[in-house]
Amino acid sequence: MRLKVEKSATAYGNNLFIFHLVRHVAAAFLIAHLGVHVSDLLLVAVGYSIIYGVGISVSAHRLFSHRSFAVHPSVERFLAVLTCLAGQGSPILWASIHRGWHHKFTDESGDRHSPIHGFASSYLGWLKSIDRESLPVRSCEDLVKSRFHRFLHRNYFFIYLSVTLALFSIDARFATYAFLIPSILSFHGVAVVNFFCHSRQFGYRNFETGDNSVNLRLLGILCFGEGYHNNHHHEPDRASFGIQKSELDLGSLIIKLISKPYPKRKSISEEH
Ligand SMILES: [Zn+2]
Ligand SMILES: [Zn+2]
Repeated sequence: MRLKVEKSATAYGNNLFIFHLVRHVAAAFLIAHLGVHVSDLLLVAVGYSIIYGVGISVSAHRLFSHRSFAVHPSVERFLAVLTCLAGQGSPILWASIHRGWHHKFTDESGDRHSPIHGFASSYLGWLKSIDRESLPVRSCEDLVKSRFHRFLHRNYFFIYLSVTLALFSIDARFATYAFLIPSILSFHGVAVVNFFCHSRQFGYRNFETGDNSVNLRLLGILCFGEGYHNNHHHEPDRASFGIQKSELDLGSLIIKLISKPYPKRKSISEEH
């Protein structure tokens, strides 16, 4: 099972790299064609909150990568699909990279999106370094064991494009401002945290973590808590990234809403 996932990795990384570029060109064309109304900004804000706040920060990062909390299995499946709609690969890909590269080798050469490799590589270029030999799928056996997660991983681009086409066939304006642009912004939300929150010259540190992680209040608010990155690297499995009273973590508020009734479990494999 793991071998099949690893085999697709090289194409996956290259496709994601091209995919991001194509989405940006398409969004620029659509904005020029449709114009921007005030109501469109509201759609972007709501879409970004759902796709980035819930799909990436709460789901890809805190649920699938760190297992910081648990939800009902049906909610977990919904969140996995939401992660896919953020345009950053399946939960298997996201969690493999996050566990096997980022937290294992933080700010060392094995951390492919660390700023130590330079801005361009940290922001986007690192995607081209995903290949079958190096993708740390081994760090993600719990997800790979799940047939549902393997399905999402195998059919990732088909799922994303199908949802895109379905939304555009209903309403191009809604699809552009409630889905496509929030999905693109969610890529930038991750990229700015990867770069700025691992650069010592920005932000502040609450903890000595042995890496370059810092907290940035602006990104803490705009990125649903992700900007309190030094706090996160101090205690990676903690569901809440805000530690001081002034560190507002919107992601942890969402987690409180969706995780309360269910006991924490150790691994998704126990459910499948
Ligand atoms: Zn980090
Ligand atoms: Zn993390």
